[in-house]
Parts: sequence; C-alpha cells; structure tokens
Amino acid sequence: MQLESPQREAPLVLLGIGAARARLELRAALERGGLRVAEAADLEACVDALERLEPALVIAGSLPSEPDPVRVCGLLGGACAQRHTPIVLLIDGMDARGMQRAYDAGAADFIVQPPAGSQIAGSEIAQRMRFVLRAHGTLAADLRDANSIVGPAQLLADLRECMERSKKSERRTAVLCIDLHRFKALTASLDGAQCERLLLDVARRLRIGIRDGDLLASLGLDRDGVSVARLRGDEFCVLIRDARETSDLSRISQRILDLMAVPFQVGEQETILGVSIGIACYPDVELSAEALLKAAEQAAYCANQEGRNNWLFYRHELEAKASRRLALELGLRRALERNELELDYQPRVDIKSGQIVGVEALVRWNHPELGRVSPLDFIPLTEETGLIIPIGEWILATACEQNRRWQVAGIPPIRMAVNLSSVQFRQRDLYDSVVAILDSTGLDPRWLEFEITESLLMRDAESAVALLQRFKDLGLHLSIDDFGTGYSSLSYLKRFPIDAIKIDQSFVREMTTRSDDAALVTAIILMSRSMKLRVVAEGVETRSQLALLRILQCDEIQGYLISRPVSAVAMAALLRGSVPAAFAA
Ligand code: C2E
Ligand code: MG
Ligand code: MG
Repeated sequence: MQLESPQREAPLVLLGIGAARARLELRAALERGGLRVAEAADLEACVDALERLEPALVIAGSLPSEPDPVRVCGLLGGACAQRHTPIVLLIDGMDARGMQRAYDAGAADFIVQPPAGSQIAGSEIAQRMRFVLRAHGTLAADLRDANSIVGPAQLLADLRECMERSKKSERRTAVLCIDLHRFKALTASLDGAQCERLLLDVARRLRIGIRDGDLLASLGLDRDGVSVARLRGDEFCVLIRDARETSDLSRISQRILDLMAVPFQVGEQETILGVSIGIACYPDVELSAEALLKAAEQAAYCANQEGRNNWLFYRHELEAKASRRLALELGLRRALERNELELDYQPRVDIKSGQIVGVEALVRWNHPELGRVSPLDFIPLTEETGLIIPIGEWILATACEQNRRWQVAGIPPIRMAVNLSSVQFRQRDLYDSVVAILDSTGLDPRWLEFEITESLLMRDAESAVALLQRFKDLGLHLSIDDFGTGYSSLSYLKRFPIDAIKIDQSFVREMTTRSDDAALVTAIILMSRSMKLRVVAEGVETRSQLALLRILQCDEIQGYLISRPVSAVAMAALLRGSVPAAFAA
C-alpha cells in the first residue's frame, strides 16, 4: 500500500470533450502538471466514466450530441453533485454572459478555449484545477461532516437500540445534551450562512474532538460507540454506548468543555461559545428513549442556570426546576402574541423641587398560570433565547407611544427612560429600529432616555462609543444604570457621551447605616458633579435616605418613597397631581 506511486495518488480528471484536439492539448497540460487524465468523447462515455472511474474533477466541453458546454454541465450536474465532483467548463469565448451561464449551471470554474491555431495554455491549467479541487475538497469535507452528524430520528433509533443492549449487560447508555449558552443572542449580528457555518464548526469539533485522541481508549470505549447528533438548530447531543462508570461521562464532558473553550472563527472575528452539558444515563435513570433525551435537555437547562461551562447529571429532583424554566421559555415565545407583557412606570423626581422629571418604563409579564413574573426572572431568559430583540422592540415602541399619549393629553412633557439590554445593543440594526419607532410614534427624541449598564460599555468600548454618539446626535439622553456594581471607574466613563448615572440601589439601601456605603455614594456624587453628569439615586425608600441625599446634593431620586412602579393610568394621575407626599412636608 505504502509503495503506491505518487502518480497513482494524483487526482483523476475526466475530460468530457468532443473535440479530439482540445482533449489532447488538455491532457498534455494536465499530465505535465502531475494530474491523471481520462477521456470521454460523448455523453454516454462521460456518464459511464463517472460511475466507473469516480474522477475527482470533470472538465466538460462541447459533445457531439450537445454542442453547448453549459447544457452539458446541466446534463452531468446530477451525477456529479451526488459524488461531490466539481465540473469545470471549457467554453468558447470569454464574455461575461458565458461566465455567468457557466456558474449558473453549477460549474466550479471554466477554461476558455483559445481561438483556432493557438494552444490551450500550459502549466497554469493544472494549477488552477488543483485549486478548484482544494476549494471543493474543503466543501465536500464539510458536507461529509454534516452528513455524519445524525438527526433526531436516527438518534432516537440508536438510543433505543443501545438501551436494549444495556439491559443485557453491565454497561450504560448515556445521552449528553449540549446547550450553547446564549447562542442566539451571540449570533444576533450574524447572517444565516455565518450561523450555519459556525454550527457546522461546532459539530465538526465535537465529532473529531471526542472521537480522536486517547480519551476513549483510556475509558475502554470504542470510537464508533460515540456519535454526535444535531437535534435542531443549535442543539447537539452526544450518544455514548457501553460506558462503564458515570465518572467516565464526566471526563468526556470535561473534554467537550475544553474543546469548546477554544474560540471559533466567524469571518474576521473570534467568538467564544459557552456551553452547558446535561447528562442522562440509562439504567441509572429508568426512562424511555424519548424521556431520556428530554431528561438530558432538562439537565442542560439546569446546568446552564448554574453558570455556564459545567455539566450536570439528570436527577428526578431537577424536574420541577427545569420544567419551570422550560415553561417560562415556551411561554415567553407566546407572551408577545398573547398580549401578556405590560409596562409599569416609576417616577424620577428632582430632589430640589420635588417635581417628577422623568419616568422609567419597567416591563412586567402576566403569565396565565404563574401570575406576575419578575423581569429579573425572565429578562435573562429573553437574552439567552434572543427573544429580547422582538420584546425589547415592543417595550421601546410601547414606552414611546405612552409618552407621546401623555403629551397629547396635555401633560407637561417628561423624559421616558427605557432599559436597554446589552444583547439589544449589539444588534446590528438597533439604531435604525430606534429611529423607526421614534418616527412612527412621533416622539421627540429628547424625551427618550436609554438606561444602559457598565458591563455593556466595557465589553466593546470602541463600537459602544460610536453607537452612543449616534444616539446622542439624535437627541436622546443616556444614563448608566446600576452604577457601582460593575468594575468601571467614573473616569473610565469619561470616554462615553452620557448624561447621567444612576447609583445602584444596593448602596442607597445601606447608606444611612453603613459608613462605607455612605462614603461610596458621596464619592460617586462628588465625582459625577465634577464630570457634569447628573446623579440619580435608585431605590430610595426612607426619609432619612432622602435627607442624606439632599445634603450630598444628589440631583434626582427614584424609589418606593416616591412611588412604586405603577400602571400607565396611575402614572398619568401622578403626573397631573401635585408634588409627591414625601416632599410635601
Ligand atoms: P432597574 O432598571 O435597575 O430597575 C429598578 C428596579 O428597582 C425595578 O425592579 C424597580 O421596581 C425596583 N425598585 C424601584 N424602587 C425601588 C425601591 O425603592 N426599593 C426596592 N427594593 N426596589 C425598587 P424591577 O421592575 O423588578 O426590574 C428589575 C430589573 O429588570 C431592572 O432593574 C432592569 O434591569 C430589568 N428590567 C426591567 N424592565 C426592563 C425592560 O423593559 N427592559 C430591560 N432590558 N430590562 C428591564
Ligand atoms: Mg433601569
Ligand atoms: Mg437600576
């Protein structure tokens, strides 16, 4: 075997060309370039050679029965596609239409037939064919990879068969469900083809990474005992046959985490995908094949909740926890359609005058069975699932429209603050969608404010500055929410075109009882003043907190002391009313 001559290993090119002279010249050029050549002078011979010789590449030209090479390409296309064999066309003249027709017909490349009297160019033809083969080889490998990843039906069939075997042996059957953490959110800015490429890369890395190396051997497992399945979109499963110990499964899971920890290349950028793995193992849990698969998925959900890059074995106790999350996720997909979302509004008050100068829109979800679900519970879920994009758009449109309505009803204009998730912020067309919403609601941009978090600014400062500046130029206000909980310093914030910072409620809560919190609030207020930023204290609940904030010359406050978040109707009444009770004294 090893003694095979390089000649035999060289790729075989089939020349499906009627004209003997062209065949002769091409053969000479290709063989000089180290490729092997077979010839077929008519369609029948071409089809026969395709079957028998399995060439790596076909060069097709005019044939006696079909003088148009593009039509020949069409005739051979089916048989070639089946074998992933690229076709290169030998065409007559180099005109744009000819090239376009060649590509449209599925040709990988084309060679231009020189005018009578001159020879087909020499060595670069072979080079070019090698290039076509290389490009095509990668493509074919991808297709093979995609094909070797089994689908859900096959997985279930395999799983059933393995479980039957496990019944008769001491060995275990395990399904590992691999949850790509925040995949949809991470890839919100990619197009469909880029996403699919990335998923294909994930599949390949899983398949090659788990099966290669000495891990399986050290666990006494057969390479073929492991298969990778793609359930849907971004959900992958690994089926492991004949495992001995559950600790072996932990080792395989760790291998998967290691494999996935290496960044993926998406175009020019590198992306890190966090993963969580759920493991369900038969007969440790005695379930049907379908239920075992579901159990692995649930375990993955739970693993995901406990932080990414870990794995979790399914236990019956997980059921309740996972099913709530699943119910929430399923419910969320329908929440918009079913009008279950609602905005409440909480006033922001000027500390000197006691006037309401703004409101913050806070989303609520009225779940048909679970009642009111806190945004703290479901916003993270919308971010992971990508649902924050449509939901965030709905929130923004509703808040803008409400603000406009108050103005039309004769209430003096106030600013509406809307929380912006970092996932929304990374969405490519956020700016356009904001402009469209302002247009359609007729709200003047100066009555809209975005609340963003520090972490959003720290992730990708350069593009954040650019986008924020565009919003500023539009006339929007910008504030930093929950300030103090991230790791940014005020001086870091200097680079961003922001108007206000909101001191996180955790510092405000303890500022009258803990001296370090008081010191922190004082420092934030002093520094903000020097940077000409307005300061808002969040979560003000007591008069003593208000008194202290007054002394420190905080600009605005927000909190239960003034009002809890209330419905639009109740908010309108507050806006029409006088100064809040806390200021009356
Ligand atoms: P946040 O933006 O910091 O909103 C302030 C939270 O503090 C609100 O909680 C509000 O009800 C609560 N709060 C206000 N005053 C007081 C007070 O005096 N004492 C106490 N203990 N709490 C007070 P909520 O409505 O549960 O929202 C929680 C978080 O969920 C928000 O924090 C925000 O990060 C997120 N969120 C809420 N609505 C939206 C939204 O429409 N879009 C996005 N992306 N996130 C939202
Ligand atoms: Mg906020
Ligand atoms: Mg906040």
